[in-house]
Order: sequence, then C-alpha cells, then structure tokens
Amino acid sequence: MENSNPKEHNIVDSVMYNYNSDNSQWELENRLLKETIDQLKRELDKYRSTPLIMCEVIDLVKDKAIIRLQNGNEFLVEISGECGKLAPGDSVLSEQKNLTIIKKSPKSKKFNVEKFVIIEKPKTSWKDIGGISEQINEIHEIVELPLKKPDLFKKLGIKPPKGALLYGEPGTGKTLLAKAVASSTNSTFIEIVASELVQKFIGEGAKLIKEIFELAREKAPSIVFIDEIDALAARRIEIGTSGEREVQRTFMQLLAEIDGFKNLGNVKIIGCTNRKDILDPAILRPGRLDRIIHVPLPSKEGVEQIFNIHTRNMPMDKSVDIEKIVSKIVGYSGAEIAAMCTEAGYFAIRKNKKKVVMDDFLNAINKVNKEKSVEDKEYVGMFG
Ligand code: ATP
Repeated sequence: MENSNPKEHNIVDSVMYNYNSDNSQWELENRLLKETIDQLKRELDKYRSTPLIMCEVIDLVKDKAIIRLQNGNEFLVEISGECGKLAPGDSVLSEQKNLTIIKKSPKSKKFNVEKFVIIEKPKTSWKDIGGISEQINEIHEIVELPLKKPDLFKKLGIKPPKGALLYGEPGTGKTLLAKAVASSTNSTFIEIVASELVQKFIGEGAKLIKEIFELAREKAPSIVFIDEIDALAARRIEIGTSGEREVQRTFMQLLAEIDGFKNLGNVKIIGCTNRKDILDPAILRPGRLDRIIHVPLPSKEGVEQIFNIHTRNMPMDKSVDIEKIVSKIVGYSGAEIAAMCTEAGYFAIRKNKKKVVMDDFLNAINKVNKEKSVEDKEYVGMFG
C-alpha cells in the first residue's frame, strides 16, 4: 500500500539519504584503509627481502655461469630462467645464499675508458722518422692503404689487414711509426700500455679491452696502439695463479676483438714489443696481426738521417763535423740520438752560446755513453 502521508514520505527519504551517504563514506574510508595497509605491507616486504649481490659474469659454462664477486672470489652458479641471454662482462644480481643469478643489473658498471687510455690526434709526420724507410713502406701497405683506399681491397677480394706487430730494440721508432700513420690517415690514436693494464686493473682487464675497442669503433678511423704487448701476450707454460688466469682472460678478450667477433671496420691495431721471443704464437698466427715488422737499430746512414732530423732546427757552428759524430754514435737507437742532440743543446745553453759547437756534441756523446753503460750493466744484472 502506498504511503499517502507526505510528511511521513519525507522522513523516509531523509533516512534513506543519510543511510546512503554514510554508506558511501564508509566505503571510501574502507578503500583508503585497505590501500594504506597494502602499501605498508609492500614497505614491510622491502625490509624483509635479502639484498642481491652485484657481480660480474666471467664466463658461461653450458647452462651455468662463472661469476666474480667484488672481493675477487669466483663461483660457478646457476642462472634463473628470467635472466635472458647473458654474456661475459655483464653485470648481474645474484641471490645471497647460493649466488644464483636472478637478473641482469639494470646499471652495468661502465668504465670511463677515456680516463685509462691516451687518446690523441698526433701530428707526427713521416719526415720526423729516419733510417727505417722499409718499415714505413710496410706500415703504408698494412695500415694506411686499407684506411684510405678500402675499395682497392674490395675489388681484389682481399680482406683488409687488421694490423701489425712492431718489434725491436727500445727507442727505435715503433711508437713514432704508429703515430705517423695515425696522423697521415687522420685517425684517432688510442694508446694502451699492456703492462699497466694488467697491473692496475686487476679483475677488469677483459672488460677494459672490450670497452677500449668499443671506443675505438666510436671514434673510427682509429688506431689502437698496444705498447708492451708482451705483458699481455706472453707465452704461458702453465696458468697457475689467479693473476695469470686474469692476464690470460684479458689476452683472450684481445684475441676475440682481433678475430673480429665484432667487425673491426676502420679500426687498426698496432702491437709493439721489445720481446717478440716470448710472445704467444696465438698473437703471431696468420690472420691475427697481419704483418710482423722488425724495427732495428739504425744503420750508419740511418743514424745520419736521424741526427739530421733532430738537429734540423739547431743553429750549428762550422766546427761541427757530422761525419765524425755519426761514426762515434753508430749503434745508438733513435731515442739515444735524440737525447744526445738535446744534451748538446744544453751544453751550449749552459755556456750561453748562440750556436752548438763540436765540443758540445762530444760532451753529449760522453754523457750518453756513460748512461748507456750503466743501463747495460743493469740489464746484464737483471737477465745475465
Ligand atoms: P720502446 O720500444 O721503448 O717503446 P719505441 O721504439 O717505441 O721505444 P719511440 O717511442 O718511437 O721508440 O722513440 C722515442 C723517441 O726517439 C722519439 O720520440 C724520437 O724522438 C726518437 N726516435 C726514435 N726512433 C727514431 C727514428 N727512427 N727517427 C727519428 N727519431 C727517432
């Protein structure tokens, strides 16, 4: 039966209205409280969960991985299915108890490689190099030609060379050759000293090599110059200590880069050593560093050329007998000839002279000879 009393009708409406609005208020409050509880639960979970350990993948062995912790310890561990594809050098997060790799680290620690290598655009000219014209020609062919005329190689169906190994006595112009070819091809010159790489960056060598080559590709055309390559590529009889294993890993990474797992393009490698005799045959194998170039001590003509290069801006007195000087310094390396010329300049400065006289050169030769004999004795002491 319908309620015909209007007054009564209004009271029911108002009760219903209050009931509905209270109800939606409670629902709102209820929802807010639930959200707060969920949020607090999530926060609580964060405090309860154990932290993951940051480590680096060293190698992959079937479906497992060898990882290295920050303290240098290495473990063979499982990989969780959600990790995706891993590669040596990746930064990953591992579970604490059994070190299972949980996921790739979103932030892979990247070196600022530019801090660790010498990068320059050298200004060295071929005219600054004396006595090694044969070697200059070889470098032309092996490094300059493929950078300047890659089409020539394509037309003939030859793979352009990857680089060269320069070996010979200290101070004979190996670095000079590499800088001159970088300059003539307008390439970025990236220099690594291999002995520093293995001593300073323990545990990081392989990664650093990888990133140096990445940088070289970015800055191409470029020349990666590896000085003292024997520190990395020495033949190892057996690999016992972890230090030796580390050097071996860095070396393997270098070989991987040379082999061109990633296309080297117009990045060329020039290795340099005084100790070719101890090099691992792997680096000398055909297809790696394409040519092995001996840079010897200069011949008599070479000595004269180098002497002329280092005195070309020097005002010289008439008394200077170049032939006599040259005959006295046959057997010097280019670096020793350069040092001798600088010394002669100093003798002249000390006496406040405007020109360098013959005596200044003779005194300089005496000085360099004395230093040479001390160095020779030390050398015999070390190896004799
Ligand atoms: P190391 O094996 O010790 O690294 P290196 O063979 O690379 O030595 P460089 O660094 O090229 O020797 O030479 C050092 C310096 O000696 C050069 O900067 C240059 O002044 C002088 N020099 C060496 N060889 C020559 C050369 N053939 N012609 C002119 N200068 C030379």
